Amino acid sequence: MKFFVRTFGCQMNENDSEHIAGILAACGAERVASPGEADVVIVNTCAVRGKSEEKLFSYLGRLSSLKAERPILIGVAGCVAQIQRGTLLRKRPFIDFVVGPDNYRELPAIVERASTGPCLATGRGRAWREFSSAETLRESPASAFVTVMEGCDSFCAYCVVPFSRGREKFRPLASILREVRELAAAGYKEVQFLGQNVNSYRDPESGRGLPGLLDEACAAPGLEWVRFITSHPGKFGDDLIEAMERNRKVCRALHLPLQSGSSAVLERMARGYRWEDYAALVGRLRRALPGLLLATDIIVGFPGETEEDFEATLEALRRVRFAGLFSFRFSPRPLTAAGRMKDDVPFEVKRRRLLELQALQKTIQTEIFRLFVGQELKVLALGPSPKGGGRFQGRTEGNLVVNFAAPRVVPGEFVAVRVTGCGPYSLHGELAN
Ligand code: SAM
Ligand code: SF4
Repeated sequence: MKFFVRTFGCQMNENDSEHIAGILAACGAERVASPGEADVVIVNTCAVRGKSEEKLFSYLGRLSSLKAERPILIGVAGCVAQIQRGTLLRKRPFIDFVVGPDNYRELPAIVERASTGPCLATGRGRAWREFSSAETLRESPASAFVTVMEGCDSFCAYCVVPFSRGREKFRPLASILREVRELAAAGYKEVQFLGQNVNSYRDPESGRGLPGLLDEACAAPGLEWVRFITSHPGKFGDDLIEAMERNRKVCRALHLPLQSGSSAVLERMARGYRWEDYAALVGRLRRALPGLLLATDIIVGFPGETEEDFEATLEALRRVRFAGLFSFRFSPRPLTAAGRMKDDVPFEVKRRRLLELQALQKTIQTEIFRLFVGQELKVLALGPSPKGGGRFQGRTEGNLVVNFAAPRVVPGEFVAVRVTGCGPYSLHGELAN
């Protein structure tokens, strides 16, 4: 059997797809590079915004045309699968199976059952679902995702994740450390711990939190960079800052979603912090961790967002000076509190605010990036640059993308790159020496 997995959404979905591929490969199936070569196509989906669902349904439409030409099995996995369940099979009868995040283990049996009729597997489990290294077919030879927790108990008003991923579940510390040591021994120089709210991690056995996990992981010989994403700003304790301070392997880069610079909007979003708390946290982090680069997420047009609220978000960007921004128009989601609020910011206003926000960020980012021109940076080589021209791409400790000229690089190796210029989204350079 030949299979193809297409992934939409976040890094956790990317890591889940690596498990999906690993589980099928462990049973003798072969992964192929395009749906045209596959007997089974699995689409791992994201439900976070209406736009992600639209992209999914247009992709599914293309798969149904492929199925009209030759027999293939089409499966839908991930967050949309978990939320829409049987509705997907009813509304799109060309789908053969629907599998939720707690059911990937059963995929070989599900695929077999689906060859005789539609199959639904979206049962929920409270226990952590463990995957062995044989059940993980990694995409990147350079950086390894390691999911340490799943689900979320925060219930931010706009967010569907607590419904698609369920309540928080934590992976045992011992099993995370076993995997980290295996990865380091296999030559991985970087691991990225993943969780929707990664700083609420607790070892189910000892109760140790993320600071303890960082201490232990950094002791793995060979490992050089450790990252963790995504952190909730309302739950970022001083103990975590101290753990970053004492472990130099923990990269001086954080993804710290702000969502809005207006405390009134943050309150309606049920984020659990005010703008002042966020600003104070950034101050503590920057004092403790010189050179720290921050990236954030912002939603514009949340119900009731006024021009003053939006102006507060622009001001927050000017004050914090993020090195990266993921920005979104508010999109009402099923089951969420904000999905029941009046979506009263007109589309055109959301669009204008998004463009304004992105224009400001582009200016700030270019200013930050210019400071690196002329410096020599340690860069983790990822592979050929998607920009082509025989160039390579890598990332810095601060998580900045660098495109650089080099005769040859090995993905996963560190190289020294002299930065010769920059655009708004990446640095350019050449191999030093
Ligand atoms: N757990 C992370 C956190 O606490 O910020 C983020 C998880 S969410 C998958 C990624 C980002 O999508 C959020 O930070 C938010 O900016 C955005 N997002 C989530 N729901 C959204 C919605 N309904 N409309 C627009 N953007 C949304
Ligand atoms: Fe969604 Fe909020 Fe949980 Fe992040 S913390 S996953 S935004 S509910």
